[in-house]
Amino acid sequence: MKSPLSQDPDSHPGRQTEGMPAGAPWRRLDMRSYVVLSVWWGCNNQCVICMLTGLRDRLKPLDFDAYKKIVIDIVNQARYRNLILSGSEVTTFDHLEAFVRYAASFGWFQKIQIQTNGRRLKDPGYARRLVEAGVNEFFVSIHGLGATHDTVTSVPGSFDEVWAGLREISGLGVNVVTNTVLNRLNAPRIPALMEALCDTGASEHHLWNYFPMEETDTKDLVVPVTQFAGMLRELLRIHREAEKPLVLKSFPQCLSKGPPGFFDSWFPVTVLPDVFWEKFARSGWGYCVHRDKCRARECWGLSRAHVKRFGDARELLSPMG
Ligand code: SF4
Repeated sequence: MKSPLSQDPDSHPGRQTEGMPAGAPWRRLDMRSYVVLSVWWGCNNQCVICMLTGLRDRLKPLDFDAYKKIVIDIVNQARYRNLILSGSEVTTFDHLEAFVRYAASFGWFQKIQIQTNGRRLKDPGYARRLVEAGVNEFFVSIHGLGATHDTVTSVPGSFDEVWAGLREISGLGVNVVTNTVLNRLNAPRIPALMEALCDTGASEHHLWNYFPMEETDTKDLVVPVTQFAGMLRELLRIHREAEKPLVLKSFPQCLSKGPPGFFDSWFPVTVLPDVFWEKFARSGWGYCVHRDKCRARECWGLSRAHVKRFGDARELLSPMG
């Protein structure tokens, strides 16, 4: 397992490609100031889009002693002011509160975020205990409204739970960011989802391109980039009216039309086993026929699975000067 402190953020394939917006209303997270510790691999969903499918059984949770050592290193090196606890579904981890409390005890971290599917947050006592332990930011995954979300998670009723969870944490004085993965199952309903999310207390919404984690789209989940480009204008309208940023992850940078859409594919420094990165590499991100003529060196381009199935979209994409 790589230590976050041995990685050079500037060499990461997902370097940030757009700077922070000048000011309100487009304030959003600067993921460069975050470090992710993957502490737990249990989960109560079976998402069809999961990047850990086939890997979770082979991954070991971070034991408390190893965790303490890494947290002490992070604090001593004074490089990251914000911490994310992640892995699979950390709210199924019995010791999450103790892990959070330990990190908070240093008084160093400005933000302690958990990445979650949000289902357990519907329990007011649990959500409040996490906040009391030190969580002050929630990154909540939601992939559609109603049955669409349940189809993606493969768990009937999971939408009702995450929606109740969002309502619960909105009254706790914490920052909430939502996370959605664009895929074939939810693509037609993404504008409706974003419209509904704009009425929650979330400060910004992240929309990720689906990561195939393989060379072909065997799960039939990749969305053609032309379909994404067709919905982008509507998504921007929704977010402009709501005055909330829409952060777009791993989409071709030349599709950017400016705020409130931010094409920002930065991955925070993440502690993940090598086996994950080996599978991640199979997606083959970065393909573009215009690559040699384009100055957007950090663009993620298209995945190998997209090119195989839908072509290279050469008419849609255009080199940036
Ligand atoms: S032309 Fe290609 S490399 Fe350049 S921004 Fe567009 S997708 Fe990325």
